[in-house]
Amino acid sequence: MQTKVTIKCLCGREITLELVGGQYQDTYYGECDCGRKWSLEEQSELLAETLE
Ligand SMILES: [Zn+2]
Repeated sequence: MQTKVTIKCLCGREITLELVGGQYQDTYYGECDCGRKWSLEEQSELLAETLE
């Protein structure tokens, strides 16, 4: 399973979000040097099917 995701901040820097995790979803969280906070939520296909 992927534990880190790299995204590009609005300021142009690339930042790495690290997996935090949760009961029903996996959340990636990170902060850029410019102070902007990023979070990304990913649901697995299995969980998505279960919730529908
Ligand atoms: Zn930034």
